[in-house]
Order: sequence, then C-alpha cells, then structure tokens
Amino acid sequence: MADAIIIGAGVAGVSAALHLTKRGLRVVLLEKGLVAAEQSSRNWGWVRQQGRDRRELPLIVRSLAIWEQWQAELDTDLGFRRTGLISLTREPAELARWQRWAKRGRAAGIDVLELNGAQAEAALPSSGAPWIGGLQTPTDARAEPGIAVPALAQAACRAGTSLHQQTAVRRLLVEDGRVVGVETEKGQVRSSRVLLAGGAWSSLFLRQHGISLPQLNVRATVARTTPAPAIIPGTFCASDFCLRYREDGGFTLTLLEGEQHDIGPDSFRFFRQFFPLLAKNWRHMHLNALPASYVQQRRWQAMPPTQGETVFERERIYNPQPDMRQIDEAMRRFKLGRPELADVQLAAAWAGRIDLTPDLVPVISAVSALPGLVVATGFSGHGFGIGPGAGELAADLLMQTGPTVDPHEFRLSRFSDGSPMFIDPDVI
Ligand SMILES: Cc1cc2nc3c(=O)[nH]c(=O)nc-3n(C[C@H](O)[C@H](O)[C@H](O)COP(=O)(O)OP(=O)(O)OC[C@H]3O[C@@H](n4cnc5c(N)ncnc54)[C@H](O)[C@@H]3O)c2cc1C
Repeated sequence: MADAIIIGAGVAGVSAALHLTKRGLRVVLLEKGLVAAEQSSRNWGWVRQQGRDRRELPLIVRSLAIWEQWQAELDTDLGFRRTGLISLTREPAELARWQRWAKRGRAAGIDVLELNGAQAEAALPSSGAPWIGGLQTPTDARAEPGIAVPALAQAACRAGTSLHQQTAVRRLLVEDGRVVGVETEKGQVRSSRVLLAGGAWSSLFLRQHGISLPQLNVRATVARTTPAPAIIPGTFCASDFCLRYREDGGFTLTLLEGEQHDIGPDSFRFFRQFFPLLAKNWRHMHLNALPASYVQQRRWQAMPPTQGETVFERERIYNPQPDMRQIDEAMRRFKLGRPELADVQLAAAWAGRIDLTPDLVPVISAVSALPGLVVATGFSGHGFGIGPGAGELAADLLMQTGPTVDPHEFRLSRFSDGSPMFIDPDVI
C-alpha cells in the first residue's frame, strides 16, 4: 500500500514524486519504458517565461525558483543556467505581438527588455535582412533535459521514492466509484491517490475509464551540433529558427515551423475542440495523411483488453524518426552568413511527440468523476520549464493541501463545462 502512485516518469511525474517524497510520503513511481525517455529528454531545454500564455506565468515563476533550488541542493549538475532568452524579428506584426506580451510579462514581475533594431543586431547580427527589434528576458534559463530529469528521479529515489521502470500501468483499480490503485503488467499496487502524468498517452489511458481528455500530438525534429563558438550563451529564437547553447559546448537547433500532425482517429474525435486552434494556426500546421500512421494510431486506440498485454507495454518508448530535410535546413540556417561556424557538424538528430490541448495550456487537475485521481498532462510543447512547478501543484492537489499556484486555469472541466475556449493571442 502506497501513500501515492504516479504513472509516468517524465518531468511532471518525477517532479511530483520528488515533492511528495520530501513531504514524507511513500511514493510508487511507475514507468512503462525508462525515465524521461519520451518528451522529457527530447526537448530543446528551454526554461522560459518569455512568450508564455498568461495563465502559466505564476507557474513558470514558481518553477524557476524550484529549478534554482534543485540546481543548488542536488549533487548532479542539472545544467540549469539563467542565461536569458533573446527573440529577434524582421516582422512588424510579430514585434507588435511581442510588445503586447512584454507589458503582461512585466506586470507579472518578469524582467523584460524591448530591443530596437540596433540592439537586436548587436545581440546577434542578422545573416539576412536586418532585424527590426526583439525581446530579451535575462532571467530566463536553460537546462539539460537528458541529464536533469534522470537526476531528479535519482534524487527522488534517494529520498525514498520506489521507482519501477519497464512497468506499464494497464488501468486504474476503481471500487465504489473511487480510485483504489492501479493494475500494472506485473501486478496490482494499491493507494487511494493516483497521479496520471502519462504525457502523450494520457488521453488514451483515461478513455478506458470513460473520461474524455482532448489531446492531440505533433512530431517535432531536433538537431544537436558538435562544439561551436558560443554565438549566444543562452537561448535564441527568430521567426524561422531557434537554438540553445548546451553545456557540452554545442547547440540544440530546431526549425520553428517544422511540427507535423499525422492524422489519426483522434484528429476526428477531437476536431470540434481543436478547430479554433487549427483556424488560428493553419498556416503553420503541417497535416499529414499517412496511411501507415493512421493504422498504427488506430491499433493503439483500440480499447486496451481487460486481460493481457496493452498498448502501454507494446510501445515502451515512442521513438519517431527525425525529418532529415528539416535537419539539413536547420544546419544551413544556423551557419548562413557566419563563417566562424563553418566547421561545426551535425552530432545527433532525433524527434519527439508533443502532446497538445485545444488551448495549449496543460491540465493539472483532480478528476471529479473519479475521486482520488489527479491528472498532470497536456503541456503543449512547453512542459519542461514548468515541470517542477507542475509537479508541485499536482502533489498539492493529490494531498488536498493549499495549492502553491491557483489551479483554476488548469482544470480538466474547462473542456466540458461550457467555458469559452481561450487561446492567448499574445503567446510567442
Ligand atoms: C522536440 C520537443 C521540444 C520541446 N522543447 C521544450 C522546451 O524547450 N521547453 C519546454 O518547456 N518544453 C519543451 N517541450 C515539451 C516538454 O518536453 C514536455 O511538455 C514535457 O517533457 C512533458 O512532460 P511529461 O512528464 O508530461 O511527459 P513525458 O515526458 O512524455 O513523460 C510521460 C511518461 O509517461 C509514461 N507513460 C505513459 N503511459 C504510461 C502507462 N500507462 N504506464 C506507465 N508509464 C506510462 C511514458 O512512457 C513517459 O515516459 C518539447 C517537447 C519536444 C518533444
């Protein structure tokens, strides 16, 4: 019997485990594959306030404080550095949107500098038409995803978390309408408190219990370079291209417009909820009708059988293939007009599956239909930075202690209680 069970050892589940264990609780953390093997090690490593949805600002401010504390007190270097984020543009409409966000950021207590064209050119000389301006948030940070989340898991284990990798949770155990534990591929674990932090698998997991979580996925491709001159010490973004300086001396590179959605049964199931997002972003969305992917998703989404192996153990680690055309283009844009980068090579390429909600804000919420269950998922491509705060909030909800951050905006019921869908127009 555990005080709390956590499903999923990504940044959300691992952070919650660390918070709960430090509060003296007996925590069982169950992971179908390996710690951080899906989104939480494949991301760019940005820990940013800049451009965040207004509903997430208190959570990112809190998360930065936790990152700072963990970086100082754990014996592994998480790579957490407050090296800032600079965004530069050549587009007046984009700059106006960023300036609107700057006002909101300052109101939330965040240090935001607005750069004019000359200051933007001084921050990173443009290799094409000159920048017209930008934003700089000096207190934004970066961390090393592949190191940080496993190190947090080790810290949780040292504090007393019982971690079980290669242990898929097949379903919840429910008695008298309450959660009483989980059934894993290796047997049952009982507890009256269960946190689902299953990343891109959460919607499918909940569906077998009659709970609807609108969630879709996009694939994103990332490149790592060999060590390079530190043209930027932190993170940098332009409309078409982003990079982060890494502790190993290289850069993590990505194309901003490169995310791909492979159409599957959920694309139709959640079409109505996602329509406003699609209508707003249709220019940047790449929708792929790939028969093999559709069939794979249909196979996944067949209801898990009540006996025997489920999709959660068949797909231990979802490992999509990177798009090598995007990698080549990212390397080209990185080097363009910068002779000092001529010898820098591609060191690695990978892809990850990002889970989205219809308003691009996570769900961190108790589930009223199943007392004892809390969900923390749907981080919509920016959950690494807010993971520590999201884990803390999930721990608060699980233990029903006064939450550190107001959870109202993250409630699951916003998708079904008639609340108007709000997509923050100033998000960068
Ligand atoms: C390419 C890319 C770039 C990104 N860049 C950034 C960035 O720079 N900054 C930022 O803040 N965010 C970024 N993100 C988003 C960020 O990585 C995610 O939001 C965050 O890692 C989500 O964490 P999670 O714990 O919710 O999910 P995950 O890391 O996906 O973890 C969920 C875990 O649950 C496990 N699981 C699922 N179902 C079961 C089950 N039934 N039984 C047992 N285990 C189960 C999975 O195996 C998985 O390990 C990026 C994501 C990608 C893919």
